[in-house]
Amino acid sequence: MVIDQQHRLHGAFLPADECSAMTDHSTALFRCPHDPLTVLERGWLSANNIVLHGLPGEGAVLVDTGHCNHAGQTLALLHHALQGEPLRRVLNTHLHSDHCGGNATVQATFSSQILVPAGSLAAVIDWDEDRLGYRPTGQRCPRFVAAGALAAGERLTVGTRHWEVLAAPGHDPDALMLFEATDGVLISADALWQNGFGVVFPELDGLDAFDRVAETLALIGRIAPARVIPGHGTPFDDVPAALQRAGRRLSRFVANPALHARHAGKVLLKYHLMEEQQQALDAARSWAETTPLFESTRSRAGFDGPPGEWFQELLAELLAVDALRLDDQQRLHDV
Ligand SMILES: [Zn+2]
Repeated sequence: MVIDQQHRLHGAFLPADECSAMTDHSTALFRCPHDPLTVLERGWLSANNIVLHGLPGEGAVLVDTGHCNHAGQTLALLHHALQGEPLRRVLNTHLHSDHCGGNATVQATFSSQILVPAGSLAAVIDWDEDRLGYRPTGQRCPRFVAAGALAAGERLTVGTRHWEVLAAPGHDPDALMLFEATDGVLISADALWQNGFGVVFPELDGLDAFDRVAETLALIGRIAPARVIPGHGTPFDDVPAALQRAGRRLSRFVANPALHARHAGKVLLKYHLMEEQQQALDAARSWAETTPLFESTRSRAGFDGPPGEWFQELLAELLAVDALRLDDQQRLHDV
């Protein structure tokens, strides 16, 4: 298993210098004993995991569980963050495989109840991999059991904190965010990163979703969080600047949807190699040619050539920027 080297724990409500620092091999772990929240910042491929600590006897709540490739590491990080506190519940912001891929392992280990976004509950109960997106994207996610749903407008109390559940359509139609108004902390998932936002997947299916992205960004602007904990990357405080960057990115995609489709094709290919870590070039090409959403990126990007050429063109761009590597035996490697 490839070990994610970029993870670290740090508090969201207290500055790092108020936390005790410990060194564990190559990784610095920061714990804030008085902080009601711990962020497990992960590198790609896993999304960040956020532990909301409860009052004594209440148990903790975990937001998102990372990718199944890193499930063992997720457990190790969780045990460290929980320090014996029971894990009562798991919530998923949305059901992309890098956000809920650890659900099955976490559920088997902690017997936690899993709550998923209301719009995705039926697909989880049926384990419909088409509706869940794992088949069209050619991605993998172990099956888990959902105990119920979480819907926009609900309020979640953990410890002394109250979290408002907000709809965040765009990147995913059913995605949710969590907002704690007292300290202005927003768990944004893939709706807002420090530099941009996640691929707008419904657009690849021909559904108008750029407007949904704009609405979600506008909502974040209205609630004006003091700190954002994104789905990927380090928590950040300069939210207006991040919103401006996201707005400019969205404007470029609205003006030229083909640009977004091309970007999405590269994301899908890079993600696939992150899952596989290494793969023969022919096998990667065959994955591309049989993955429906990769084909959607080709037609949305207006690329007239055959699917194999689309794969070759995007691959060349990823190799040129060292996002992937091709060795002498014609094997592709994630970098
Ligand atoms: Zn996502």
